[in-house]
Amino acid sequence: MRAKIISIHANDNVAVVVNAEGLKTGTGVSKDLVASADIPHGQKIALTDIEVDQDVIRYGEIIGQAKRAIKKGGWVDEECLELPISHDLDELPIATRVIKLPPLPRKFTFKGYRNNDGSVGTKNILAVMTSVQCVAGFANHISRKISAELLPRYPSVDAVVPINHSYGCGVAINAPHAEIPIRSLQNLMSNPNFGNESLVIGLGCEKLEPQMLISANPGMRNDLVRLQDCIGGFEQMVRNSLELADQKLQRLNDRKREDCPISDLVVGVQCGGSDAFSGITANPVVGLVTDLIVRGGGTVLFSEVSEVRDAVHLLTPRAIDVATGEALIREMQWYDRYLEGGGADRTANPTPGNKEGGISNIVEKSLGSIIKSGTGPISDVLGHGEKVRKKGLVFAATPASDFVCGTQQLASGINLQIFTTGRGTPYNLAIAPVIKVSSQTALKNRWPDLIDIDAGQVVSSTKTIEDVGMDLFEMVLAVAGGEKVTAAEKLQLFNDLAVFNPAPVT
Ligand code: CA
Repeated sequence: MRAKIISIHANDNVAVVVNAEGLKTGTGVSKDLVASADIPHGQKIALTDIEVDQDVIRYGEIIGQAKRAIKKGGWVDEECLELPISHDLDELPIATRVIKLPPLPRKFTFKGYRNNDGSVGTKNILAVMTSVQCVAGFANHISRKISAELLPRYPSVDAVVPINHSYGCGVAINAPHAEIPIRSLQNLMSNPNFGNESLVIGLGCEKLEPQMLISANPGMRNDLVRLQDCIGGFEQMVRNSLELADQKLQRLNDRKREDCPISDLVVGVQCGGSDAFSGITANPVVGLVTDLIVRGGGTVLFSEVSEVRDAVHLLTPRAIDVATGEALIREMQWYDRYLEGGGADRTANPTPGNKEGGISNIVEKSLGSIIKSGTGPISDVLGHGEKVRKKGLVFAATPASDFVCGTQQLASGINLQIFTTGRGTPYNLAIAPVIKVSSQTALKNRWPDLIDIDAGQVVSSTKTIEDVGMDLFEMVLAVAGGEKVTAAEKLQLFNDLAVFNPAPVT
């Protein structure tokens, strides 16, 4: 393979090395560019001489200042980059670049389960909701028993899923920020894939009383199994639960898939194990699909505050109005304080794997990450665990941690997630399908049975971002409609839920 590098923007003074074996010193890249160092795959080569303190530009944005002079053709590694200071949140342009996207030229539909509240499920799941971790073992036991003994009689129901978490007791339930795990759990229970029929299992003495979960969801029946109310021991608890589960399964079994417009999609996007190619292939492919869904009247949630913070100057101009832009800034401020309270800052991200994959710092990571949000206006901003309330492109605040972000987006009401990865992860959710998109073909080749869409084709083949974007868009509709099953779902790999709890544990 001849030497190949990629830069994104005309102003960039670095480019990413594509060759799997990297570039050896002396390799000619183009007529007037020769590698002046050994530069590994995914790392950055200087396109010009870069002076000390000069800005290093990727994506047309400053990703750092050079700590030492870098010769044209040299390796711009993590060590020679000074992290730029964060953008001042008080001086950001708001709603100055709102580009209205044209509607799609034709209608697209998927086969979904319509709920009474107007939301639409992509799966038909009996959730076994728990109010406290104390009952997790019991919830797992009856979920297995319901699956084995009752589920075969209800062919329209996809699965029985226990909703376990570490919240519920031993917590300062009225402390500042406790509203975050509480509303997250309340909203998780009404995820559109549950058809408002969750089976609630409580203990009886916990702080998060099961009634707090039920009463927050008006469409939900006021029934539950409280283990401490059960006379007759474990067997009686099981009998009571199965009886209630059977009634719920009957009602869930009546749900049938029907044609739904893509305006009923609520798709979460996130990335995990990113590399230098995430911002070149996978995230632009997802950004294109984000725009398609928004143009079709649907909803896309993007999240991961710590990977948005250092590119927020590119997002506040896209806020639909001043109030939405200010809400976005408030979420950034909240997270700045949260990290500060824990004695951390933005340098806690990226990970060693990100760095090995060619991402030098959080600024470079963020610039690549926000591309998932496409180009449309940001129509709303949700606090951690809040339920989606507007269509279009929505920023839903979550940590960047994959499993926490996944859990929080489920609470906000996603019925499908698109997940991009460079380094690779078996991550998947039991509640909503997760379509995994690789940033490099090498990952797809290494893990053919774990990756759904290979965005690396944008670099490794003649396919364009638009080509792979259309493949992904079609897959979204097929998976949402139950016609296709994702790779990780075939393997039945599911992460645990991890509700975000920034409040004290007692
Ligand atoms: Ca993530």
